This record gives sequence, C-alpha cells and structure tokens, in this order.
Amino acid sequence: MTIAAAETNDAVTGALKVLLRSFRLKGFEDNYELIAELANSENLTYEAFLYELSKVEAEERKARKIQRRLVASKLPRDKTLETFDLSRVPTVSKQLVAQLCDGTLVDRAENVLAFGNPGTGKTHLMCGIAHELIRNGRSVFFTPAYALVQHLVAAKRDIRLPQEIRRLDRFDAILIDDLGYVQQDRAEMDVLFTLFAERYERKSVLITSNLVFSKWDQIFRDAMTTAAAIDRLVHHSRILELNTESYRAAKAHDRRRAKGPEKLDESAKPQKEGET
Ligand code: ADP
Ligand code: MG
Repeated sequence: MTIAAAETNDAVTGALKVLLRSFRLKGFEDNYELIAELANSENLTYEAFLYELSKVEAEERKARKIQRRLVASKLPRDKTLETFDLSRVPTVSKQLVAQLCDGTLVDRAENVLAFGNPGTGKTHLMCGIAHELIRNGRSVFFTPAYALVQHLVAAKRDIRLPQEIRRLDRFDAILIDDLGYVQQDRAEMDVLFTLFAERYERKSVLITSNLVFSKWDQIFRDAMTTAAAIDRLVHHSRILELNTESYRAAKAHDRRRAKGPEKLDESAKPQKEGET
C-alpha cells in the first residue's frame, strides 16, 4: 500500500457507493462494510463474502416487496392471524387455515368462501389469511364488495371494463368483503358476474358473505345467472362456515336478555339424548 492509501480508500468507497446505488443494490450498499469486517474476522473467501452479501440483498428485496404488496393490498393492518382467536371458531381447523395460507391454493387459482352471520369474524379471518398469503410471496387486493362493484360499473360505463378486470389480474387473489350486503341492480350484477367468469380457473377470488348460497339469487337476481356464478366460484374452492353453536347460543341469550328479566323455566331447557 502507498502513503495515499487512506485517501484512495475514501475515493473508492465514494465511487463504490455511487455505483451500487446506480445498480439499485441497496442491500449491498448498506451492508458491504459490515460483511467485509465479518469476512475479515472469519477469513471468508472472496466468493463466500460475495455470497453473504448477496443473501442480505435478496432478503432485503423480499422484505421490500412484501411491504409494497401490503400497501397495494389495502388490507386493514390490524386484522392479522396474530390478533385472531381461532379457538372462537371451532368449525374452522388450524390445519385448514394453514393450508389456505401457504399460497399453493392461490397458485392453483382456487377460491375461498367464508360464510357466517354478522360479527362472526369472517372479515378478520380472511384478512388474516390474506396477510399470510402476502408474507408467503403472493399478492392480494382487499375491497369491500360495494366499492368493487361501483368501480366496475363506472369502468363499464366508460367502456373500459376489460382493462379494469385485466388490471386486477396483477393480484393473485382478490378479497371481496361482504358480498350480498347491498342489493344489486342488473348492471352491478353483470360486472360482478363478468369478473368471476374472467378469473375462473386463472386467478383466485376470496369472498366473505352473510348470505348462504340459497339466498344468492338476491345478488344475481335470476336463477340461471346465480347458478352459473355459484358453479364457477365453487368448482375449485374451500368453504369456511363461521356460524357456530356457541355463537347461536350467545345470540339467543342476547335476545332473551333483550326481552326482559324473566327467569327461564328449567324444564324448557333442551334435553340431550339419553337424559331423563
Ligand atoms: P364479520 O365480518 O363476520 O361481520 P368481523 O371480522 O368484522 O366479523 O368481526 C367483528 C369484530 O370482532 C372485529 O373487530 C373483529 O376483529 C372481532 N373478531 C371477531 N372474531 C374474532 C376472533 N375469533 N378473534 C379476535 N377478534 C375477533
Ligand atoms: Mg365483515
């Protein structure tokens, strides 16, 4: 090394950072000094040093991508599986939730439909699953059903429905929250049906609804369209039923309390089989 080595090193550092930035290697730029120290102390080969640095770059890229997808998803941030108490929905097993989260279902363009009364946790559970899908490298778009329908109806009016549906293709899954909550008119029903038909066997649709299938003619109006929509959605799908006995019991209890303080007649209790 010459006497000018220190200055030269500074110049190299500066030029290297500029180069790394121009290559968009932020992970390299932020970590190469630390990993170079590590390489020195652990006698890593040049190749091993480069490998360690590349691994950090890859991890940081992955984290940034997940972050970007999380923002693009419009998912409520707090509705994750960490904050969801699965033991309150005994009808949905832990294994099933794990299966829905790993991303393979989305890779096969299958659908997930969650049914249950208001307040049973449909939105929270499905958002939690969607968060996991994003963490596992897939992209999801969350939208209330009414907002999606309004958006697509406006697109159709402007003769750009195909473009809008294609734009939604960049998401592996769309989570449509509260389907059937609002009464749809013919134009609304049409765009929704078109969306389902276009995504069928290509991209996933995740749905929450408090309307059981037998009432879906309220969404799609005529029986033929309803049957066709249900066929497409259900063909490759997993169905989560969130209504539980305990939920119904709690509601019944609320109703009784609302009626007044009269005591329940013990003899009116339902008897289990075998009891006398
Ligand atoms: P739904 O979509 O079925 O009407 P939500 O998912 O909106 O129900 O749940 C209603 C509220 O109760 C939300 O604030 C949600 O976070 C909470 N909640 C429901 N079920 C659970 C659960 N099993 N664990 C934790 N919070 C829950
Ligand atoms: Mg909901």
